[in-house]
Amino acid sequence: MKKKIGIIGGGVIGVSIAHFLTQYPEAEVTLFEKNTIGSGTTAKSAGTHCLIDDSVAHEFWDVRLFGFNFYTGLEKMAPGSAGFEKTGTLTVAPYKDYETYVMKAVSLTLASGYQAEYWHDPAKILKVIPDINVDGLLGAGWCPDDGFFDATMISNTLAKLAREKGAQIHIGTKVEGVTMSGGKVTGLDTSKGHFDFDLVVDASGPWARYTARQVGLELPIWHTKAEVFILEPSEKLAYPFPVLKYPRFYARKDKDCVFICKAHLTMDLNDPMHAGIWDPDALPMTGGTDAYFWEFLTEELMQHYPRLLDSSIVNEWVGYRAEPPDFLPILGESSVPGYLLAVGAGGNGVIEAPTIGRDLAQYIMTGDTSWYLERLPFSRFEKTDAKA
Ligand SMILES: Cc1cc2nc3c(=O)[nH]c(=O)nc-3n(C[C@H](O)[C@H](O)[C@H](O)COP(=O)(O)OP(=O)(O)OC[C@H]3O[C@@H](n4cnc5c(N)ncnc54)[C@H](O)[C@@H]3O)c2cc1C
Repeated sequence: MKKKIGIIGGGVIGVSIAHFLTQYPEAEVTLFEKNTIGSGTTAKSAGTHCLIDDSVAHEFWDVRLFGFNFYTGLEKMAPGSAGFEKTGTLTVAPYKDYETYVMKAVSLTLASGYQAEYWHDPAKILKVIPDINVDGLLGAGWCPDDGFFDATMISNTLAKLAREKGAQIHIGTKVEGVTMSGGKVTGLDTSKGHFDFDLVVDASGPWARYTARQVGLELPIWHTKAEVFILEPSEKLAYPFPVLKYPRFYARKDKDCVFICKAHLTMDLNDPMHAGIWDPDALPMTGGTDAYFWEFLTEELMQHYPRLLDSSIVNEWVGYRAEPPDFLPILGESSVPGYLLAVGAGGNGVIEAPTIGRDLAQYIMTGDTSWYLERLPFSRFEKTDAKA
């Protein structure tokens, strides 16, 4: 007998769940997206997916690796379908703990069959980016095999694959209510009418606090501001620009310009400049940045990459990352029967989406859980609504 599953949200997480569910013939999948596919946080993302990465801890190495292999697999199947730009990543280590972390990432990357090196020699670092300031640096990790993806492109590819396997994808369709009977979810009321479901997955990203209130759940999810500045150097960079990672900021190419953003793990949920509970519908597609973030990035560039300050800002925008207090997603069962969660992916949802989709689909269709789902249940927060 078919299992009817409703998914709220067509960002990279929601469509990944839909895609993996359609691998099971008994799944009847319906996804609702109030706007267009991949138009929420996903559209504002840098899409970096680096093997030497400080934002998804080594504890989750297999999540990083599965995501990377999955997206490059899409590219192999249909070039352009994941929008991969293989720029390589330079991860710069200014202090010892960070260096230790980067060195371990190099080992993991090599053990997984990709190329990586750790360099102490500043001359090697300067070969990648000649005008970086190497004074006081301990070294840098270099991986030539990775780079960044186009997260909206990925979302549309996965939605297309899911549709081809029978999923119903309703765009321009807002979920307005959740129907329940005997304490269990029975369906969704949407702007296009009512749908019955055996279970529902909430993948509504930064809207999740509001979405889950419809079933009486208060999710411990805050918004952190991800402020992006697109810099056009006054003199064109005469070298291929890789993903560049420092502990406090990161950058990548954006055509001939540079995309730069404060690092996600530097955000403080108790700082009202960084975090709050805001209305994602009030966010404009571009603009709306705060002077604070530009001042922060100016100081970082002054120290590490002064040449980039000789640029004009040609675009800027703000995205809200959905962050639980431990900066890790909330996955699987909630305390409301039939209401599952795939929320709180924060600054790493592109990397995490394939594993979330794969593991949740397996759990929904077979009842088999995974280490990842067991590690990140909603129950870890049930007794507290406190911030970090
Ligand atoms: C500036 C920035 C840079 C980033 N860089 C990276 C990066 O380099 N690597 C990385 O892995 N991650 C990065 N991230 C994080 C990543 O983009 C997010 O974690 C990811 O996009 C979250 O996906 P999602 O599907 O959970 O949310 P979203 O993409 O926000 O999708 C949720 C969807 O739900 C829909 N929705 C909400 N309510 C309803 C409703 N009631 N009915 C129907 N639909 C509804 C919304 O319209 C939206 O499309 C970055 C984020 C930002 C903002």
